[in-house]
Amino acid sequence: MNKWIAPLLVLAGLGALLWWAVLDAAAPSRAGAVFDLGAYRALVADDRAETLPTEVRVEFVGSANRPAFAVQAGAMGARRIAYTSFQIVAPAGDTIIDAPVDRAQGEAMTGKGLTFSDAAYERVLAAMSNAATIAVTHEHADHITAIARHPAPAAIAAHLALTSIQRDALAPLAPTAALDPAMAATAPLSLSGPTRIAPGIVMVPAAGHSPGSVVFYVKTGAREYLFIGDIVWAMSNITDLTGRPRFLHWIIPGVDTGRDQVLAQVRALHDLTASEPELAILPAHDAVYLHKLIATGILTERFAP
Ligand SMILES: [Zn+2]
Ligand SMILES: [Zn+2]
Repeated sequence: MNKWIAPLLVLAGLGALLWWAVLDAAAPSRAGAVFDLGAYRALVADDRAETLPTEVRVEFVGSANRPAFAVQAGAMGARRIAYTSFQIVAPAGDTIIDAPVDRAQGEAMTGKGLTFSDAAYERVLAAMSNAATIAVTHEHADHITAIARHPAPAAIAAHLALTSIQRDALAPLAPTAALDPAMAATAPLSLSGPTRIAPGIVMVPAAGHSPGSVVFYVKTGAREYLFIGDIVWAMSNITDLTGRPRFLHWIIPGVDTGRDQVLAQVRALHDLTASEPELAILPAHDAVYLHKLIATGILTERFAP
């Protein structure tokens, strides 16, 4: 027997494993019915123009470079990942989407290399105190910490629009490691399908990245937005039809609990960029892309007081 056969078989096996764990994240060729924009539009069709949100603002509380191959399978170099919160400004009261890390949680998740703005975080806390509705795209710490550690939990409790999965994730992050009594006393949102939560705003269950993941469709007077949270960490995932690598889920088990669902969502979002070119898709973390949207006036940087 040729002495090279065994080593070659081992090499081929290692190559296949590397491909499967690190490189294979192709979205399927067809998505099926994943995001039904028509249904979301119908839910807000009767909202009077003067009640619709007027603008969408963003805060960057922190950012750090991440290896690109962890953000998008097969990508090279580094990507700038931001910790963000969005403020949907509306006549009857603002809606906050995502409650980002404070400095301690950001350092715990990111380690060295985090840049953090205490002023931006303080503006997020203040905007939450004044908001009519506080919602999150999912239950991961970088989207709920500012709820769990808000200095006035009793004041914001009545304004939370969280599912039970999202609410159940708050306790471990809270200063007392227990859910605040005022928050525990408010009923979680039951979300069996797309649900209008405010004029022009629809919350849509979208499990995949995590069991409690949702997306938000928002119609302002000027345009439509889709807040997609962490379905992708970069817009290039959507452009290139490529998700995150499998090995991430082994290191961080909470990430991509429904990987096939995520990849179908990536395909659906890719198709939406073609069929709905005016729709503004907002990933939570893509710092460079979000700054481009600020430059074109689709987003406004810094929360309104
Ligand atoms: Zn996440
Ligand atoms: Zn995130």
